[in-house]
Amino acid sequence: MEMNGDKILQVKQVTKHFTIGKGRILQAVNDVSFDVKKGETFGLVGESGCGKSTIGRTIIGLYNRTKGDVLFDGKNVHQLPERELFQLRQRMQMIFQDPYASLNPRSTVREVISEPMEVHKLYKTKKEQNERVYQLLEEVGLNLEHANRYPHEFSGGQRQRIGIARALALDPDFIIADEPISALDVSVQAQVVNLLKQLQKEKGLTFLFIAHDLSMVKQISDRIGVMYLGNMVELTGSDSLYENPLHPYTQALLSAIPIPDPDMEESRERIILQGELPSPINPPSGCVFSTRCPFAMDICSREKPTWQEAESNHFVACHLYQDKLENKTTTEPVVRIR
Ligand code: SF4
Repeated sequence: MEMNGDKILQVKQVTKHFTIGKGRILQAVNDVSFDVKKGETFGLVGESGCGKSTIGRTIIGLYNRTKGDVLFDGKNVHQLPERELFQLRQRMQMIFQDPYASLNPRSTVREVISEPMEVHKLYKTKKEQNERVYQLLEEVGLNLEHANRYPHEFSGGQRQRIGIARALALDPDFIIADEPISALDVSVQAQVVNLLKQLQKEKGLTFLFIAHDLSMVKQISDRIGVMYLGNMVELTGSDSLYENPLHPYTQALLSAIPIPDPDMEESRERIILQGELPSPINPPSGCVFSTRCPFAMDICSREKPTWQEAESNHFVACHLYQDKLENKTTTEPVVRIR
């Protein structure tokens, strides 16, 4: 995959809190920063409720941010005048988890795909618009006979293809795919991932791929950010994350992925996380993972670990590495998962 290193997206210390009544605040996202380079796929992973979908919606401007900045091609998404934001939205599109819920059941496939084209007045004639719809259907592995049918007439995988065609209707540069395969059968998941990879190659698309399943994210991502309870805890290249996970939470997530080889599967070490995911309304003090971390130390519940480049292009927020970086003595309790 070719990457020119230019940043198409910069997420800078973004915080998103929701007021949920009785003075309570849901801290969905806290101080999250990362960049996405043109042409790459950046995977964002974590359990449900970790804030990854809120980040996606904040990037595209569906949510305003509480603090921080989102720059798309250098433009601050949340400070643009309405008209410029409208134009920018043409370049940023979203694919949703549940294709059925995101497609209007009363519209034909042609209407579903043409709607964004009409909103943005892309074509002068219906004929041109219809030709583009047929072309898009073919690009996503459907055909023009599907244009007059309704979403309920399709399988889950086909509906996600319709969702992808709709996202491509405005010829965007950047697509946020929010759990695009989670609702699909395993056999269909691989087909949709392959389609996304193929479209990326053909059109030079950039993806933010949001998922809870680390095994599928590896198939598609160049770099991966791991989130826990609204915080980014680790960020590195895809191979580096799988071969050398640093954060105890990433290690636990990876240790839960089954290995196809029965001997390896039996002999490997598994980290079972204790306790429930805490509430983002009342997150733990210090490190947000401290209530479940098998390696927690005294400092962990007192001080929030800072975001550090522990190894080249490998960032982590964990006191284990902070001690190492500051040349303090530490009991090296980190377990490597292979
Ligand atoms: Fe575990 Fe402490 Fe690292 Fe948090 S900072 S992940 S509690 S060792």
